[in-house]
Amino acid sequence: MDPRSAYKEVLSSIEEHRKWFDSSLPMIASENVSSPAVRRAIASDFGHRYAEGWVGERVYAGTKYIDKVESLAMDLIKEIYHIRFADVRPISGVVANLSIYTALTQPGDVVMALPITKGGHISMGPLTGSKGQFIGGTAGAVRGLNVRYIAFDDENMNIDVDKTIKRIEKYNPKLMMLGGSVILFPQPVKEIVEVAGSMGALVNYDAAHVAGLIAGGQFQHPIDEGADTMTFSTHKTFFGPQHGAVITNNEEKFDLIKRANFPGLLSNHHLHAVAALAIAACEILNFGKNYAKAVVSNAKALAYALHDEGFKVVAEHLGFTKSHQVLLDVDEVGGGYKCEKLLEQANIIVNRNLLPWDIKRGRTFKDPGGLRLGVAEITRLGMGGDEMKLIAKLYRKVLLDKEDPSKIAKEVRDLRKNFRTVKYTFEEGLAYEH
Ligand SMILES: *Cc1c(COP(=O)(O)O)cnc(C)c1O
Repeated sequence: MDPRSAYKEVLSSIEEHRKWFDSSLPMIASENVSSPAVRRAIASDFGHRYAEGWVGERVYAGTKYIDKVESLAMDLIKEIYHIRFADVRPISGVVANLSIYTALTQPGDVVMALPITKGGHISMGPLTGSKGQFIGGTAGAVRGLNVRYIAFDDENMNIDVDKTIKRIEKYNPKLMMLGGSVILFPQPVKEIVEVAGSMGALVNYDAAHVAGLIAGGQFQHPIDEGADTMTFSTHKTFFGPQHGAVITNNEEKFDLIKRANFPGLLSNHHLHAVAALAIAACEILNFGKNYAKAVVSNAKALAYALHDEGFKVVAEHLGFTKSHQVLLDVDEVGGGYKCEKLLEQANIIVNRNLLPWDIKRGRTFKDPGGLRLGVAEITRLGMGGDEMKLIAKLYRKVLLDKEDPSKIAKEVRDLRKNFRTVKYTFEEGLAYEH
């Protein structure tokens, strides 16, 4: 390979990607866009450094400013979630979950979580996949946990409390993993904690998706509802850098979590991302409530508008959603794979997703029956209810009217012309600058 041409190709691909996203509707529910200040921190010299250990107990020199920033990041997270302890070192949500497994369980222990088909995440998966082949997920394959499933009520798109309680009594888990990747509604945390707690199980809530909504007071606060710990990604609804964190009020468990992270899981912990997280946390403290309100209200507006345009939107009898997500059942519109590709050609970026009833009707993860839409990023670009109605019409034109997607791509580009900057930040700037 000619290194000079590869070098140019990488740089030009970054630029092409930037231009594409600058004229698209980025609606992947697990994504967001960060502010110019957060991106400045990501590009800073912090990203060249090491600071192993805990603030005040480092095993490297040269960390005095890094220590200041990491202390601020912890204090800000504690203030946002009104919590006693925060570890901001996990480099992602998966690593945050792994720190919980490492700190609070032993290999062979039972952990209960939702299966991926019902909104669970790969980090909660078992040793092997469905046919006993390959790696199933982090809990089983990495920590050696015995994964049993939480029961799900497909109709209400939520945990089935009665059945789950029976399974808790049967399997006697060490740890419950609540939360999930497909999450439309708050979960019955209190009810699960009551039973699991009485049997000596700990409850972690994986808030990877909803951390920004919790921060803004617009979604259940799992620790206020009795969960022992909460893990999260800091880049989904929490609009910071790609990173992770763990919070708890339990000092004894926190001590174990700290040790799980170092020396267990981390050597360097992405100090540039820690600095970026501190900045995003300032933005969340200041603007988080208005942002989270706008996100939830946009998700509702989009769901109702899509329903009006003729789409089958999941959970109609419950008002469709109370989070940043909207789920479409596109089984009769060509399936998730085809719909995702058509929308992509129209510059609308979403992901296909398994719906709880997909396996029963013969669909698989390759061509599932659902599309999962997220509105966090377009909300951060400043869009509101009027835009949600316009966007629903664009979906109809692409997927129901079968109009030429390249024609819709132009309409998307025009719509985006008025939404170029990142809102809910101290220094507004271009959203897709680099
Ligand atoms: C996204 C996600 C994670 C972790 O994601 P990272 O990419 O590792 O930050 C963990 N749990 C759930 C439920 C998720 O949706």
